[in-house]
Amino acid sequence: MQKHIAQDAPACPQPSFWETHKFEILRNTSYILIILALIILPTFRIAKIDIAHNEAWIFGKQVDIVQGLGAVIVAGGFFAILVIVLNLINGRVFCGWICPGGFVAEVQEKFRRMLYGPRSSKFQRLEYWILSFVVAVLFALLFFNWITDLRVFFYKTNPFFAPMWFAFIGTTGIFFFEVFIGKKWCRVFCPTGIYQKITPYHHIFKPTMVPWADLDDCGSCRACIIHCPMALDPRRMAYINDFYKGIQACIACGTCIDVCKQVRTKECKEPLMVWVRELPPRDPEFIEGKHKRPKHH
Ligand code: SF4
Ligand code: SF4
Repeated sequence: MQKHIAQDAPACPQPSFWETHKFEILRNTSYILIILALIILPTFRIAKIDIAHNEAWIFGKQVDIVQGLGAVIVAGGFFAILVIVLNLINGRVFCGWICPGGFVAEVQEKFRRMLYGPRSSKFQRLEYWILSFVVAVLFALLFFNWITDLRVFFYKTNPFFAPMWFAFIGTTGIFFFEVFIGKKWCRVFCPTGIYQKITPYHHIFKPTMVPWADLDDCGSCRACIIHCPMALDPRRMAYINDFYKGIQACIACGTCIDVCKQVRTKECKEPLMVWVRELPPRDPEFIEGKHKRPKHH
């Protein structure tokens, strides 16, 4: 048994877990902190509007609802500017590191692959429907907690009882669609994603393949393609000018860098995916995804 383990162990020093999962750890930390902030800020009335009771709170101080709405508009403007600034610096960083919807869609995508694949049983599919519904409700509650006292949903006498339920059901329906389709939401439908594709963008750091390698060096590995949340080919997407297949769609998540390092260092080889500031020149065959050596099986 011991001999077997010794045979399987790679014959080279292995990087730490941190080195091979750096972007995954940092990104998930960022997402979770944002979601915690979205829960804590209205719950502790650091910033909250309560439409149902016609009042608002800023830093724990009760203010007129008009003042509260003013603060929301300012926050919304700040948010829109932040998205543009991040987009100008490094593309859709907002989607890959900040947006709670992006995080939820990514987690859902993992469940979708587990429960809603072509070989999934009816029971697994049902599980996925239920899971998507629960996540959509929780996600809607997260946002309604900003604009109302959630108890309004139980007080029939409150004039906002019916309108709030109406708005809540509509919002949950949209969120259900979002979480059910997983990461396809970010790729195709998300208005913030579309907004970032059409506003000016720049990528200071671009993920791509090291200049000395070509597609044949990957052999049969497709790990970075399989794990890219935006369904891109990370090795060459930075050369492509396309809303869905090119750099406009990249959320600068770094997953391709992490994954390639995991795969290659296990085989005692240098990782092929890196961040670059300047893209090395490539011939059109590489950009089109053509292999130089014909594949023989
Ligand atoms: S290409 Fe790399 S950095 Fe861009 S979205 Fe895909 S995995 Fe993330
Ligand atoms: S993970 Fe690395 S080795 Fe595998 S396909 Fe991507 S670039 Fe090639």
